[in-house]
Amino acid sequence: MVFSDGGVDDNDHYRRLRAAQARNALSNLTPTLAANLFIAGSTTWLLWHWTGNAGAFVWLAFIVALNLARFAMCCCLSGSDLPREKPVQVLRILTAISFFSGLSWTPVPLYFAAPGSGPVSGYIVFVMAGLTTGAIIQSLAYWRSAVAFGAPLMLATIAMMIGGGNGIDCFLASNVALLTLMLFRANVLSERSFVQSQNVAMRTSQLAQSLAVANGEISKSSQALEHLANNDVLTGLANRAVFNRRMATLFEHCRAGRVEVALLLIDLDKFKMINDTRGHNAGDALLKTVAARLDALCDRNDLAARLGGDEFAVVLAGVNVEARATAMALDVMREFSRPFAFAGQDIVPGASVGVALAPRHAADEDELYACADLALYRAKMEGRKRVHFFDAALKDRLDYERAVDRDLAMAIDTGSIEVHFQPQVDMSRSRATGFEALLRWWHPDIGAVAPPDIVRAAAKLQLSERLAASVADHACRFACMLDAAGHRDMTVSINMSPAEFDAYDAARLLSGVTARHGVDPGRIEVEITEDAILDPAKAERALSALRAAGFTIAVDDFGMGHSSLAHLIRLKIDRLKIDRHFVTDISANAHNQVLVSALVSVGRALDMELVLEGVETADDAETLRVLGCVTGQGWFFGKAMAPADALEWLRRRTGRIRAVA
Ligand code: C2E
Ligand code: CA
Ligand code: CA
Repeated sequence: MVFSDGGVDDNDHYRRLRAAQARNALSNLTPTLAANLFIAGSTTWLLWHWTGNAGAFVWLAFIVALNLARFAMCCCLSGSDLPREKPVQVLRILTAISFFSGLSWTPVPLYFAAPGSGPVSGYIVFVMAGLTTGAIIQSLAYWRSAVAFGAPLMLATIAMMIGGGNGIDCFLASNVALLTLMLFRANVLSERSFVQSQNVAMRTSQLAQSLAVANGEISKSSQALEHLANNDVLTGLANRAVFNRRMATLFEHCRAGRVEVALLLIDLDKFKMINDTRGHNAGDALLKTVAARLDALCDRNDLAARLGGDEFAVVLAGVNVEARATAMALDVMREFSRPFAFAGQDIVPGASVGVALAPRHAADEDELYACADLALYRAKMEGRKRVHFFDAALKDRLDYERAVDRDLAMAIDTGSIEVHFQPQVDMSRSRATGFEALLRWWHPDIGAVAPPDIVRAAAKLQLSERLAASVADHACRFACMLDAAGHRDMTVSINMSPAEFDAYDAARLLSGVTARHGVDPGRIEVEITEDAILDPAKAERALSALRAAGFTIAVDDFGMGHSSLAHLIRLKIDRLKIDRHFVTDISANAHNQVLVSALVSVGRALDMELVLEGVETADDAETLRVLGCVTGQGWFFGKAMAPADALEWLRRRTGRIRAVA
């Protein structure tokens, strides 16, 4: 027999095998009993007919009673759980009963048929061999039962034949004995093949079960993987991959003129602030809440996705998408400005939405995204908490940004991006003290590119370091030109945007450039915008490295952003550049006069020099001088100029400044 290796599995397998044998044996028992009764009846009649022995009827009564008892027991066993749970015991019982039944037939050859009784004994040999063969045919699955039945009656038959003392009978007895052995051997072989076929059947069903289980597991894990691959982990919304796929599919239909597509890009207005001030848990809870609200606004055919950070998207497709997009944008505004409770307090999120439509605004999915992104940017610029639809003006802007993106790298490398220098003037001593380096790019197709656009594109295209290196190079070359013109004490300021601290090591880059040009780092001032100070730890590290390398630091556009004086004191800022909104037209603005005068006192107290930006008129310059401001910068003194023009300006204006100021 074939069994598996593991103990528990082996036992179970063995039990199931025996159960199959028991079932087989029980199922064949009823016809066997019927045949048994029929043959017993015929035998009784023949015995009585041939021998006149009425005792045969007593025997028949016994056989009937015995077979009825066997039948009853067979029914009980078949109807119970025993064949399944205790098959070995059932088989033993059946074997014992078979043996007993076999014994019950022995009186026929041993008692009713006298040895050598001619046709009677021939008939008895025939019946006994037939009964044994029948038992074996009915018990192909379990040889012991058939052998237990056949062995006593065949032995009795052989004994009957030998007992006659007749040589021919003895010879025939040896044939009967051989036949009996052959029958028993056939029975053993038939059981073996039954066991083998059961083994195969059970292994196959086990395999099928394991395969079903494995299939179930695989399908479960592939479902989980699919969910992970398609959904944003935090919010459960579709992720960028799904968004990209859906957009690509929709555009196939859109190009064929079958559908219109609307894309809404949504940006949470206060996410960064909430994350910074209330912690990441609050940020996560906020994202989850707005995601659930967004999901609830969408129906089955719309797609709501989280594209990353606090940026969400809704894609609508079909007909009349403009009206649906308008309604959806308003719903989003309403739902995103509904307060939600976190840690016992209400947080009011708010959102800006940019909307673009295809085919009206865009011919492919990238263009539609760029259009919606630009509309979103405009919504934010207009003061947030609003919806902006892409329009013709934005289309021009999109073309402009594409040209900037396309040509920026080349422009940096070929020197098309220039650096101009705007003078900074000591208003009390009437002389120039330094220059601020400002980017200038005249693009052949789109004309002048605004410096903030250059800086933004560089950050987006990972060109910030190359751009900063180029500006520093121009600044150092200009410092050398100033040296050559005899202005060795004049400073040159360069601007660095906050994001640049992430992109590269500013101190190392600037040190490298100044060393190459032989410029004293003390003459180079780094102007950082206030946002850089939003992350004090990062700013502090970058700024201390710059200071350690000998550069001086100025905070640009002071008054417009987030930095507090407490921050500035800790960061050891050398100069504070007051934004031009407080300066331009100050001669006519009493409020700004009070403000600037207060700032002058603060600067003195903290030993921080002030630079007043945006000085546009003589009146402004005079007012500032009266208020105690020292350094000024603005169109009144001079715009940003190419290096040679700046030197010419220096040459011509030195001496005239005193007269004007
Ligand atoms: P910013 O650093 O505040 O530069 C001063 C801006 O004000 C310059 O604009 C300048 O041309 C302008 N300006 C100067 N005087 C006056 C005035 O009297 N009235 C008015 N209305 N404006 C005046 P610009 O050159 O367009 O630069 C804009 C911004 O671009 C700069 O603001 C600076 O933040 C950024 N930027 C310029 N060059 C660079 C650079 O090389 N790197 C980085 N990261 N940013 C730069
Ligand atoms: Ca500046
Ligand atoms: Ca400024």
